[in-house]
Amino acid sequence: MSLSNNQKPTPHVALLPSSGMGHLTPFLRFAGSLAEQNVRVTIITTHPTISLAESQALSHFFSTFPQITPKQLHLLPINDASVNSEDPFYLKYEAIRRSSHFLTPLLSSFSPPLSALVTDMSLASTVIPVTKSLSLPNYILFTSSAKMLTLFVSSHTIIGSKPPNDSDETEEFIRIPGMQPIPKSWIPPPLLSNKPNLLKTHIIENGKMLIQSDGILINTFQNIEHESLAALNDGKVVNGLPKVTPIGPFAPCDFERNKSIAWLDDQPVGSVLYASFGSRTAISREQIRELGDGLVRSGISFLWVVKEKKVDREDELELGEVFGDGFLERVKGKGLVVKNWVRQEEVMGHKAIGGFLSHCGWNSLTEAVWHGVPVLAWPQHGDQKMNAFVVERIGLGMWVEDWGWGGGEKVVRSGKIGEKVREIMGNELLREQAGKVKEEARRAVGDGGSSKKGLIELIEIWNKFI
Ligand code: UDP
Ligand code: UDP
Repeated sequence: MSLSNNQKPTPHVALLPSSGMGHLTPFLRFAGSLAEQNVRVTIITTHPTISLAESQALSHFFSTFPQITPKQLHLLPINDASVNSEDPFYLKYEAIRRSSHFLTPLLSSFSPPLSALVTDMSLASTVIPVTKSLSLPNYILFTSSAKMLTLFVSSHTIIGSKPPNDSDETEEFIRIPGMQPIPKSWIPPPLLSNKPNLLKTHIIENGKMLIQSDGILINTFQNIEHESLAALNDGKVVNGLPKVTPIGPFAPCDFERNKSIAWLDDQPVGSVLYASFGSRTAISREQIRELGDGLVRSGISFLWVVKEKKVDREDELELGEVFGDGFLERVKGKGLVVKNWVRQEEVMGHKAIGGFLSHCGWNSLTEAVWHGVPVLAWPQHGDQKMNAFVVERIGLGMWVEDWGWGGGEKVVRSGKIGEKVREIMGNELLREQAGKVKEEARRAVGDGGSSKKGLIELIEIWNKFI
């Protein structure tokens, strides 16, 4: 038990995020909102982090919230060849899995004792057996959309149960119980592949395990994902699934604030397109060049974060080299191209931003929702087509399905990109609708709002475990 200022006992909750900014950021925002409600929070960190962005976010966070305690989980190195993945973020999940025996003594050592542990969906199959053995309530924070959650919890039955080579090649849709059929083209291709791969193993193993958690928390809200949430909570998708509580969109947190990019201050209101594909998506050089050309040809001002490598530490590219001669000269006066990490939250909230060309990582989309910025969706991999569907569905933006997945499926030419950029920036109706979604989001997390109620109810439940 822990005593807050007014001497009322408060629960002590530990959070265990997995790797990558797309997973760390929502955990830190959630931790900030729990601290605001006087919940005592410990964050379990794993070192070294994969990206520089992660280590910087953690250090800003802990200096902004001195009342939140960091605890380190020791990780065993992975030094055998049996783990076959080029993705360092996935290797980190695997390292955490293999080090899970260190979790039992760590979790038992907390003082005051824990009322609950909240972990990432990508660690469910690793962590739930440990918390069960300790009789510690376990909650999952799902960091993507509710639409993606319907696929996540059901893939072991609809995809995983099929023997290899038995996938019905002619079938164009995937049928998730309780949901409208979804085109196969929206499913991350590794999940449909007969070849073993870490994404497939993780989604199937973790998705299967969610039924054994005590509750699923999700960074979304009723107004934008009512149907998926209703199907999940009515037991239509998976019978016996624990309650799914929407508590988002997570408001950006104090530790993320910084001085914004000065160039933006000089641009007219709503005039700039922000283009970024998140923290871990590398784009091919050919596509980067087409995109650059498209942005310049659109005639719209832009702020573009270029990323050629998955991990930011490795991104040592020289922009001149990536684009070839003359490009950066052509950009002058039309836009700003940067290759370093920007504080996206800050950028999106800037009055000059009027549109967002996005890969549709769920955090990026919740940030667009939070600031009412229309989105031009260009999903690249993973859950991003499922999320792009949500963008269109709620009227936040446009998705050109024909552009396909990124990563070499096809190169989208500059003319098409320029055309869509102009379209999104000139669409007044979209801007209005994005403004409405923003108001709904703020109502959801404000006092009396649906997500705020969910959070308060959750804390009340944890109070029973003090
Ligand atoms: N982000 C940022 N600056 C960058 C790139 C990304 O602040 O230069 C943040 C972005 O605001 C978001 C997170 O990193 O909160 C990325 O998560 P998302 O789910 O959008 O995509 P992912 O990177 O996991 O693909
Ligand atoms: N995912 C998962 N287990 C993992 C990693 C990812 O279940 O270990 C799911 C999760 O729903 C995620 C989606 O697969 O949003 C796409 O994963 P990807 O690595 O493409 O994106 P991330 O969210 O990690 O940036």
